[in-house]
Amino acid sequence: MVTFLSGGTGTPKLLEGSPAVFDPADTTVVGNTGDDVELGGLLVCPDIDTVLFQQGGVLDREYWWGIEDDTTETHDELAALADAAGLEDGPRYLDAEAQTAGRDIANWRRFSGVAEFMELGDRDRAVHVTRTSLLDEGQSLTEVTRTLADAFDAAVDVVPMSDDPVASIIHTPEDERFDDEMHFQEFWVAHRGEPEVEDVEFRGAADATATDAALGAISEGPVVVGPSNPVTSIGPMAALDGLRDALEEATVVAVSPFVEDEVFSGPAAKLMAAVGYDASTAGVADAYPFADAFVLDDADGTELSRPVVRTDTKMDDDGDAERVAQAVADALEVV
Ligand code: GDP
Repeated sequence: MVTFLSGGTGTPKLLEGSPAVFDPADTTVVGNTGDDVELGGLLVCPDIDTVLFQQGGVLDREYWWGIEDDTTETHDELAALADAAGLEDGPRYLDAEAQTAGRDIANWRRFSGVAEFMELGDRDRAVHVTRTSLLDEGQSLTEVTRTLADAFDAAVDVVPMSDDPVASIIHTPEDERFDDEMHFQEFWVAHRGEPEVEDVEFRGAADATATDAALGAISEGPVVVGPSNPVTSIGPMAALDGLRDALEEATVVAVSPFVEDEVFSGPAAKLMAAVGYDASTAGVADAYPFADAFVLDDADGTELSRPVVRTDTKMDDDGDAERVAQAVADALEVV
């Protein structure tokens, strides 16, 4: 057994090459759910969805990390309707009372669907309708995720970190342009990561439980933390007591999302600095006290007190992900 922890970019890239090194039938992918939002009543799980699309061979890595060749007719019509009705664009975060008024799983991440601030594809939306409807029929997020994984012919087991709500909330200093707290997706998608960040909160984490599926998989073999945002992708998982304890017990190899202090993509540097870590590979090592070894880029001279395997960690072309997966396997040999 091997378990990959996944955000929405780095680990899905690595999963392209992992089958050459790790048997998919013995592979579990635990998806972060702190990024999830309920949008117009639909539960969207961006990190899990990326894994599903990657497994289904339909992931578009060029344009939007959605389904390739998807259309956006419904999304476009939502904007047109809002415009025609004179409704102001979002993100339209529902009021505090509404945040805990519906499905528990959506607590503190409920947005109105008016003018839809995230661009959901039409086929993509079918996934969210199915997910939300199965949840309403009484299935857990774990069951629903596995059902969807079957629909995408996933070769690996895909499970959420928790069946409970955990919402990544960004706290910002005084700024008249922004609210002083906002969901991560509002920060990243609507405001392009522009607001200053004072702190990151995983709302709900103290009351949330890690899934048995995630804990069971982690207890059965090594864990691979693919290149991830340590704050908003791995942070919500490590904020779950049971999952953090399981990581402490497990053999863990982490691939750095940095080359020294250069990030490949996304807001990791800004968020790490905000929560008190150095925005670099050294900071990633501090953020992962449970990691037993690291895979770093050939050009990354960071000295760490734990074992390191180096390779070219950029995963853009054919063969790249397989090379990084092999380096992960090599790192597992030296811990
Ligand atoms: P999110 O869920 O989309 O925010 O992203 P993840 O949690 O999956 O994190 C993506 C992280 O992986 C970013 O910090 C990037 O710097 C890093 N990353 C993206 N592409 C690559 C790559 O090809 N190689 C490596 N080593 N890191 C990458």
